[in-house]
Amino acid sequence: MAKKRKLSEIRKKVENGSAVVLTVQELIDQISEGKKVKFEDVDIVTTATKGLMSGIMGIFSFRLSPPKTLRKFTEVDINGIPAFPGPCPNEYLGIVDLIIYGTTQSRTKDNYCGGSLFREIAEGKPIEILAKSAEGETIEKVMDLEDMQFAKLAGTRQAIKNYNAMINCETYNVNTIFSCLPFSPNKTEITFSGCGALNPFQNDPEFESFGVGSPVLVNGNIGHLMGPGTRNYIEKPNMMTIAPFKGMKPEYMGAFKTSYGLEPICSLALPIPILNENIFNNIIKSDKLVKLTILSLVGREKVGEITYGDVWKNNFFMRFNPDACKNCEECKAIDKCPTNAFIIKEGMISAIDRSRCFNCGNCTHLCPEAFELDLKTIEFEGKDIPIVLRQSDRYGAIKLAEQLKSMILKGEFPLKKPISKLQFAKEVK
Ligand code: SF4
Ligand code: SF4
Repeated sequence: MAKKRKLSEIRKKVENGSAVVLTVQELIDQISEGKKVKFEDVDIVTTATKGLMSGIMGIFSFRLSPPKTLRKFTEVDINGIPAFPGPCPNEYLGIVDLIIYGTTQSRTKDNYCGGSLFREIAEGKPIEILAKSAEGETIEKVMDLEDMQFAKLAGTRQAIKNYNAMINCETYNVNTIFSCLPFSPNKTEITFSGCGALNPFQNDPEFESFGVGSPVLVNGNIGHLMGPGTRNYIEKPNMMTIAPFKGMKPEYMGAFKTSYGLEPICSLALPIPILNENIFNNIIKSDKLVKLTILSLVGREKVGEITYGDVWKNNFFMRFNPDACKNCEECKAIDKCPTNAFIIKEGMISAIDRSRCFNCGNCTHLCPEAFELDLKTIEFEGKDIPIVLRQSDRYGAIKLAEQLKSMILKGEFPLKKPISKLQFAKEVK
């Protein structure tokens, strides 16, 4: 008979301190060390992903003027980023509701987009607001998260069930969101995205354990899963979530500079209660069993297939060795960190800001002497092609999965049944 357990039984075990909660990474490590893990051995696993998530937006509401003074606000910039005032006009209330896209670039700040702003809001930094009313009056105000009546981060397309690797099959460099430097031509380098075996959908491909209304950890703060996101289909499910900015951890957020502009960073973690053997059997799959499709950058045709086991294997964390620096006349890496993680002293990189580092490997690609990371090489059409960039941070995702595990064990994260099952389209129309 198929083995099962109820969510209420798991909750009781959490309450009495006997629940076994593991991150997917811990489970994979135990299995690769030869341990036989059975259904009875684990009650919950925690999954996570940290990556570039274009489909995020901030939804805010705050007061800009006393009631009855102005009809409504028609234009609002925050730190130079144009927002969309509304949908509610809040006529004569002096309050503005607005939405800001994570991808929108600032008109006044270099290398600054919605993703950068969201991180600064979570950090509690003051933000500058410039608003125009319907009457043509201009209001300037400085405020922080505490001054806002409403501040939530919503996602339209998140935690996609892994992604793709990219290769440039053209004969010319291409500036693209899939590389930090112009993408070299003639199939000479590969970049990829996706946290592989750690991804939530990868571990629950039949959507049995989480669904509409499930609590989710968004950037380290508890939010909720709203449902399937845009452009979803059964082979590539994704989710929409919403969570308050207050309580988010900046280290899971920010912006990533590509050769075609900035992209926001976002991180999600979800628990998977092991309710039946089917869920358990899906979880114990290693990276080697998770496919990674190689696409041609221009045109997006499939040109190859590898697995996440080819790109993720104990190579999550980048180490910087300043002693290896050769006082080069011109540093090849100094202005090339996509997340601004270099701490510069006397014109040299002196250390790494770990709260910003994405472990992407761009610095290693540029200067393997000072930045240590096994980026791996892929065999493609009979040649060894180097990976030059990872656009997902597996190390950060593991940390978030560990945070979720700790919150569950302390009773700080609610384990709830979803309101309804996630339904995905059969194909993209
Ligand atoms: S990081 Fe690399 S390129 Fe830059 S100074 Fe050090 S050794 Fe030279
Ligand atoms: S791995 Fe290097 S280039 Fe990438 S974010 Fe970290 S410091 Fe920057």
